[in-house]
Amino acid sequence: MTTTRQAIKELLLEQPLSSLELSQHLGLPEKEVLDHLAHIAKAPGQGHRFHIIPAACKHCGFVFKKRERLTIPSRCPICKGESIRRPRFAVVRN
Ligand SMILES: [Zn+2]
Repeated sequence: MTTTRQAIKELLLEQPLSSLELSQHLGLPEKEVLDHLAHIAKAPGQGHRFHIIPAACKHCGFVFKKRERLTIPSRCPICKGESIRRPRFAVVRN
Protein backbone atom coordinates (compact mmCIF):
# COMPACT_ATOMS: atom_id res chain seq x y z
CA MET A 1 0.00 0.00 0.00
CA THR A 2 1.37 3.37 -1.00
CA THR A 3 0.47 6.51 0.85
CA THR A 4 0.18 9.82 -0.95
CA ARG A 5 3.32 11.04 0.77
CA GLN A 6 5.28 8.01 -0.40
CA ALA A 7 3.94 8.49 -3.92
CA ILE A 8 5.15 12.11 -3.90
CA LYS A 9 8.54 11.02 -2.62
CA GLU A 10 8.87 8.40 -5.32
CA LEU A 11 7.96 10.89 -8.05
CA LEU A 12 10.52 13.35 -6.69
CA LEU A 13 13.21 10.68 -6.59
CA GLU A 14 12.71 10.20 -10.34
CA GLN A 15 12.66 13.85 -11.37
CA PRO A 16 12.28 17.35 -9.95
CA LEU A 17 8.67 18.55 -10.12
CA SER A 18 6.74 21.64 -9.09
CA SER A 19 3.81 21.46 -6.71
CA LEU A 20 1.51 22.08 -9.68
CA GLU A 21 3.01 19.19 -11.66
CA LEU A 22 2.67 16.94 -8.62
CA SER A 23 -0.95 17.93 -8.16
CA GLN A 24 -1.61 17.06 -11.81
CA HIS A 25 0.21 13.72 -11.53
CA LEU A 26 -1.69 12.70 -8.42
CA GLY A 27 -5.03 14.40 -8.98
CA LEU A 28 -4.74 16.27 -5.69
CA PRO A 29 -5.28 19.94 -4.87
CA GLU A 30 -1.98 21.85 -5.00
CA LYS A 31 -2.56 22.99 -1.41
CA GLU A 32 -2.62 19.39 -0.25
CA VAL A 33 0.55 18.62 -2.20
CA LEU A 34 2.29 21.57 -0.49
CA ASP A 35 1.26 20.20 2.86
CA HIS A 36 2.86 16.84 2.08
CA LEU A 37 5.95 18.60 0.70
CA ALA A 38 6.37 20.51 3.96
CA HIS A 39 6.46 17.19 5.81
CA ILE A 40 8.84 15.58 3.34
CA ALA A 41 11.11 18.65 3.60
CA LYS A 42 11.32 18.21 7.38
CA ALA A 43 11.67 14.45 7.33
CA PRO A 44 12.86 13.21 3.94
CA GLY A 45 13.70 9.84 5.44
CA GLN A 46 16.89 7.99 6.19
CA GLY A 47 19.53 8.47 3.52
CA HIS A 48 17.46 11.04 1.63
CA ARG A 49 17.68 14.76 1.21
CA PHE A 50 14.97 17.21 0.15
CA HIS A 51 16.16 19.67 -2.46
CA ILE A 52 14.48 22.86 -3.67
CA ILE A 53 15.20 24.22 -7.12
CA PRO A 54 14.37 27.87 -6.53
CA ALA A 55 11.66 29.85 -8.28
CA ALA A 56 12.84 32.20 -11.01
CA CYS A 57 11.45 35.23 -12.79
CA LYS A 58 10.46 34.35 -16.36
CA HIS A 59 11.00 37.93 -17.43
CA CYS A 60 14.48 38.90 -16.15
CA GLY A 61 15.77 35.55 -14.93
CA PHE A 62 16.10 36.57 -11.28
CA VAL A 63 16.44 33.46 -9.10
CA PHE A 64 14.79 33.39 -5.67
CA LYS A 65 17.78 31.64 -4.13
CA LYS A 66 17.31 32.66 -0.54
CA ARG A 67 13.73 31.63 -0.46
CA GLU A 68 13.16 28.56 1.68
CA ARG A 69 9.42 28.56 1.41
CA LEU A 70 7.61 26.08 -0.77
CA THR A 71 5.05 28.39 -2.28
CA ILE A 72 5.44 30.49 -5.38
CA PRO A 73 6.56 34.12 -4.88
CA SER A 74 4.02 36.60 -6.23
CA ARG A 75 6.34 39.05 -7.96
CA CYS A 76 9.94 39.69 -8.87
CA PRO A 77 11.81 42.18 -6.63
CA ILE A 78 13.99 43.28 -9.57
CA CYS A 79 11.65 43.87 -12.50
CA LYS A 80 8.35 43.63 -10.57
CA GLY A 81 7.21 41.05 -13.09
CA GLU A 82 4.53 38.65 -11.95
CA SER A 83 5.44 35.81 -14.26
CA ILE A 84 7.37 33.51 -11.95
CA ARG A 85 8.53 29.97 -12.72
CA ARG A 86 7.45 27.81 -9.80
CA PRO A 87 10.03 26.27 -7.49
CA ARG A 88 10.58 22.59 -8.17
CA PHE A 89 11.34 19.92 -5.63
CA ALA A 90 13.47 16.83 -5.65
CA VAL A 91 14.34 14.06 -3.25
CA VAL A 92 17.91 12.86 -3.63
CA ARG A 93 19.74 9.94 -2.10
CA ASN A 94 22.72 10.82 0.06
ZN1 LIG B 1 12.20 39.79 -12.88
